[in-house]
Amino acid sequence: MIIAVDGPTASGKGTIAKALAAHYRLPHLDTGLLYRAVGRQVFLDGGDPDDAGHALAATTFPEGLLLDPELRSEASGGLASRVSIHHSVREALYERQRTFATQPGGAVLDGRDIGTVIAPDAEVKLFVTASLEARARRRWKEMRDRGDPRTLEDITEDLRRRDDRDSTRAEAPLRAAEDAVVIDTSAMGIEEAIAAAIAAVDAKHPAE
Ligand code: C5P
Repeated sequence: MIIAVDGPTASGKGTIAKALAAHYRLPHLDTGLLYRAVGRQVFLDGGDPDDAGHALAATTFPEGLLLDPELRSEASGGLASRVSIHHSVREALYERQRTFATQPGGAVLDGRDIGTVIAPDAEVKLFVTASLEARARRRWKEMRDRGDPRTLEDITEDLRRRDDRDSTRAEAPLRAAEDAVVIDTSAMGIEEAIAAAIAAVDAKHPAE
């Protein structure tokens, strides 16, 4: 069974995807991490993330970069959303994601275009979303716990910019697949959101 989990930043999709992978004993790929690694590599190369050539060159980042904690930063998220606009970058990362999705036994992938582009044939597609306010507040709390002094207003603005870039880009924009189950986590705690996701998967695919 392939489970595609898409949605905007800080919607809870990553946590949900990890929990689904554990629950159904499936391997999990956080595809945002690949784009973050490309963004980070452009930065390390001293390149320009808005330049398609620089961004494409960075898709050959060393595997070890995927373990760099810096990839989790807001700065890397911003760079990722800039390099992910380029067609050549998306194409370069396609095969790796597709191979992961179609491995024997199935997989869980989370990202922006899993249900629409990477695995349109997925048995289960979830679109995890939440209001901008709820997502900004979550991200702000996370940042504050890590000692990051940024204000809620700054974080809201960053998310708004990223949402805008991700959903208006020409290629593989962030949107729910037509056959996706939408889970709005605005008013849910994490356990509740995970339970809703498991219920949605079981409803779509009772055999597993
Ligand atoms: O999910 P995450 O916040 O780690 O993703 C970082 C950025 O990578 C997103 O804002 C988006 O621009 C890009 N991305 C994408 N397609 C995916 C996953 C992430 O374009 N499948």
